Amino acid sequence: MNIDRSKSLFEEAKKYIPGGVNSPVRAFKSVGGNPLFIKRGEGSKMIDVDGNEYIDYIGSWGPHLFGHNPQFIKDALLKAIDDGTSFGAPTAIEIEMAKLLTELIPSMKMVRMVNSGTEATMSAVRVARGYTGREKFIKFEGCYHGHADCFLIKAGSGALTLGVPTSPGVTRGNAADTLLADYNNIDSVKKLVYANKDEIAAIIIEPVAGNMGVMKVKNSFIKELRDICDEEGIVLIFDEVMTGFRVSRGGAQEIVNIKPDLSTFGKIIGGGLPVGAFGGKKEIMEQIAPVGPVYQAGTLSGNPLAMAAGYAALKYIYENPSFYDDLEEKADYLESGFRNNLSKLGKMFWINRVGSMSCMFFTEKEVIDFNSAVKSDTVLYGKYFHEMLNQGIYLAPAQFEAMFISTAHTKADLDKTIEAHYNSIKNIQ
Ligand SMILES: *Cc1c(COP(=O)(O)O)cnc(C)c1O
Repeated sequence: MNIDRSKSLFEEAKKYIPGGVNSPVRAFKSVGGNPLFIKRGEGSKMIDVDGNEYIDYIGSWGPHLFGHNPQFIKDALLKAIDDGTSFGAPTAIEIEMAKLLTELIPSMKMVRMVNSGTEATMSAVRVARGYTGREKFIKFEGCYHGHADCFLIKAGSGALTLGVPTSPGVTRGNAADTLLADYNNIDSVKKLVYANKDEIAAIIIEPVAGNMGVMKVKNSFIKELRDICDEEGIVLIFDEVMTGFRVSRGGAQEIVNIKPDLSTFGKIIGGGLPVGAFGGKKEIMEQIAPVGPVYQAGTLSGNPLAMAAGYAALKYIYENPSFYDDLEEKADYLESGFRNNLSKLGKMFWINRVGSMSCMFFTEKEVIDFNSAVKSDTVLYGKYFHEMLNQGIYLAPAQFEAMFISTAHTKADLDKTIEAHYNSIKNIQ
């Protein structure tokens, strides 16, 4: 495979952009090698600047539920652009978008649009703090909620000691207000809640985690979490930036059958453009300016192009109820193919899958939380990644990321991927 142009672009990019990329995981640091510069995408495929074609299982890290550049989203964008790109004044499509979102997600009675998932989660925590008059919140080790300061905290040593920043530039003050619990472990939550009685504004969680590999919350755990929040007056936030409209029509909250107080969205709801949203109970959302005192704003929020693309995506889902059955069938086919390969090769690597998002961990032990996920052999993942890439399969360049499939993936794509998977696992033994 010739990637000369990608190599020279990467050298050039590094002179002007830190690390040559505008988001760190794109640099291939955890798997080694040279990142590919992409020229175009169509359906299930991406083509790099050297003309190599790949079956893409990243889908821009989640948004491309219908594959790259679907005609109906392109049409919606072209139509919107005729009227202009931004007005900084209300437009009718923002109402349509809010109506459709609240209809698809019944726990969400009011919603505000923002420009990224990070903005959505950051704002959700702020409004929860404003609503409760409390300052601390709980997040789970291994869950990702974007890069706002308050989320870049990991557990310190010992269950009740303070968290520590995961990045320079994040203050100890932030670390003091962010408490860390263990995914799927209700006792770790209870300890924090009772040790910080009447001080916790919110608990935020990915109900299907997608940023420490893929894993689902246990039913009993999420139910107890809901109960604790009700008893203690804590705002329960589901971060559905990745899972919203990915794992089902009603998001992960439909699958786990629990209603959060607030939800956050992003990725799919932008149809490939930069969009986020947060929303939930009316009494909480009405704390936000200009109705209430909690400040939140955005020059380009509700941008007409982003709304056109996002609305087209959601409307397609709304009008095609069998959509997720088709996706599930494809995802199941791929998973079965992988499992078959693994049993033929005597390597029972752990696979978690929820709908069209999945992850094969390079460990043979059960993966249910951060601690079990990090048992994976990341060096072996790097080898697997490059074997797959050389056979034209583009996977996430890091072990703890999801593999996404879209409706554009064909049976031929999946068969080719299953064959490449067999070869790759065989070659890296
Ligand atoms: C991607 C993601 C975010 C951050 O969204 P950005 O648009 O990258 O800011 C937040 N939460 C979850 C669960 C995500 O997957």
